[in-house]
Order: sequence, then C-alpha cells, then structure tokens
Amino acid sequence: MKHSEPSITLPYSRQSIDEKDIDAVCSALSSDLLTTGPKVSEFEEAFAQCVDAKYAVAVSSGTAALHAAMYAIRIKSKDEVIVPAITFVASANCVVYQGGTPIITDVDSKTLLLDPIQVEAKITPRTKAIIAVDYAGHPCDYDALKDIAKRHKLFLVDDACHALGAKYKGKKVGALADITAFSFHPVKHITTGEGGMATTGNPEMAERMRMFRSHGITRNADKFINCLQEDNERQSWYYEMQDIGYNYRISDVQCALGLSQLQKLQKWINKRRKIAKQYDIKIAELREVSSLHVNENIFHAYHLYVIKFDSNDLRNKTYQAMRNNGIGVNVHYIPVHLHPYYRKNFGTADGLCPTAETAYKLILSLPMHQGMDDNDVEQTMRILQTVVQ
Ligand SMILES: *Cc1c(COP(=O)(O)O)cnc(C)c1O
Repeated sequence: MKHSEPSITLPYSRQSIDEKDIDAVCSALSSDLLTTGPKVSEFEEAFAQCVDAKYAVAVSSGTAALHAAMYAIRIKSKDEVIVPAITFVASANCVVYQGGTPIITDVDSKTLLLDPIQVEAKITPRTKAIIAVDYAGHPCDYDALKDIAKRHKLFLVDDACHALGAKYKGKKVGALADITAFSFHPVKHITTGEGGMATTGNPEMAERMRMFRSHGITRNADKFINCLQEDNERQSWYYEMQDIGYNYRISDVQCALGLSQLQKLQKWINKRRKIAKQYDIKIAELREVSSLHVNENIFHAYHLYVIKFDSNDLRNKTYQAMRNNGIGVNVHYIPVHLHPYYRKNFGTADGLCPTAETAYKLILSLPMHQGMDDNDVEQTMRILQTVVQ
C-alpha cells in the first residue's frame, strides 16, 4: 500500500492558462469544426515558423509524434534504434510500437545526455536510427551525433519533448534532426491538454506522418495507387488507405489553445531561465549538491531544473523534506532499462548503463515553471539548506 502523501502546493511543473487561452478555446468550441479544422494547420504553420522547421505535423501527443517519426523512417522488425537510458519510457516505447528494438545507451555523467562515444559503441549492422533526447531542455551534442549518423547512414530523431525553445550553437531545436518530436502535455513548456508535434525538413516524411496520424489514409489524388478508370474513383469522396495507421489526430479546440499558448513561449522561457539563474546562485553555495552541468554552446529551455547530490541518502532525505513541505520535487527518470517490461522482453539488466544508474540515485528535479515567483524559489532553497551543507 502507498503511504499517504502530504498535499503538494508547489508542483515541479504545471500549466499556465489565462483569459486569452480560455477565449481561444471557447471560440473554437463555437465553430463548425471541432476536430480537424482551420486551427490545426494554423497551429502547424505557426509552430514550424517558431522552431525554424519546414514542416510541422500536429498529433494527439508527444508519444504519437515519436511513433509517427518511427513510421516515417520505416522502423520495422529487427531494426535497432539507439535510445538514452535517462528519459521517459515513451522515447523507447515508440521503437517497440513499430516492432524494432530500442538499444538503451548510457549517458554523459555531467549532462545526462546521450554520450556520443557510447552511441558509436552500440552501432551494429541492424542500427537504423538514433533518438536523441534533449533532457531537461539541454540540446544534445548535435555536431557529434550528426557526424555519427552520417558516417553510419542512420536517421537522427530528436525527442525534444523537454526542449521547445532551446538552441544548439544558435540553431533551434526542431531543425537539428531528421525529425523532431514535441509534447504539449500540461507539464511541458506549452500545453494543448494532450498533444504533440513532429517537425521535419523532409516533405516525404511529413506526408508519411500526416497519413499515419489518420489511419494510413490519403486524400491526395497525386498519391493514389489504384488507377481504376471508373468515374467513382475520381469523385471527391474517394480516398485510399495505403498503409496501417492510427487515429492520432489532434482537435481544433486543442490547437486553438496551442496557438494561444505559443504566443507566450518566449516570455515563459525567459522566466524559466531567470528561475534557473536564481537556483544556480544558491546551489553554488552548497557543498553537497550541485546543479547539472550546462554546456557553453547551447541555449537551455529548462523544462526541468535537475540537481545532483553527493549521496543517495541526502537525495532521499531532501525528497522527503521537500514533499513534507508541499514542494513537489520529483526524480526524472528511472533508467528505461530497469523497468520490468524492458527486463522481461529485451533482457536488459542492472549494469547495462552504469552512469545512468548512478545518476538515478543522486538526482532530483526542483520546481520549474513559469507560474513560480521569487518566494517559491526562496522557500525551495530554504528547505534544501535544512538538509544539505
Ligand atoms: C513528455 C514526454 C514524452 C511524451 O509526451 P506525451 O505528450 O506525454 O505523450 C516523450 N518523451 C519525453 C522525453 C517526454 O518528456
């Protein structure tokens, strides 16, 4: 049985909804088209522009975006895809959905991002792709990963569910990989309730993802396979299901919210970065805990603010002290390969990714969202100081 949790007054993350968002949703609700309507393509266009991508395909979740990406790059049975150990399970599950094998790979100890040296060591003749996860909002080492992908002829997919608004060497996340996946879950930078987006610079991949999100159906006459001469085939009701797809559509109501939320992204990222700076300064004064390393050449989007303790005991004590005071700190993440499903079905075990396993015992995510004020930061730091030196 789970013991009762004290109520959380400051969650690690949460959405911000204002009157403009509510008005946008209400007007979409009063329109003719509740599901695929004008707001879907408006949101896709605004989003593509925002992340410097050519094409954006809106779907029902970040997980659906990752699944669509695996479909677009034609992952199938016996294909291997490299996935970091420190991430949400969805980053690996998307490979399994298409029948492939996620190859759980260790991370860099300073950033907890996919370690290019470990990636190279895991490549086999079956490797088809790398899924880079921009953990916490810190973009991966794309120069190194792109170089590996090019040399071994692999696709590079960016799970940027943490990293909307981040940049690598001045280039925006969303335009760094073959396909990039974003999530609009309420804990992420912007929300549509549930929702996601896949961006790409490749028109065929964009087309494949559009088909995939709607049952594998196309209405594009240029793409029709059946060339029957009957008049019926030429009518506007004609469509073709050309492959097995899903219903991964997002609604117009959700996209109306997404469009309204997107307006506030820049302001919110600035706010997150300001909170991070406040944390940085306070944590630098403590000996037994440190902030996760940030590389020089990146612009951090701070979905998470992760700290690392000197010992597992201190991390656990801090977790409890914070929770007892209503502060919803959390641990991101349990390494993927340690979950029972992966142990049972893919034979993963302790010791597979030692850096990730060690980090897992020491890390904690502090509250980080645009709705926080100075008092929230101070209170969090005050409790941290009661536990560590
Ligand atoms: C949130 C998240 C996802 C999944 O997004 P959903 O919208 O919840 O499906 C995938 N990968 C990472 C790293 C995430 O944080």
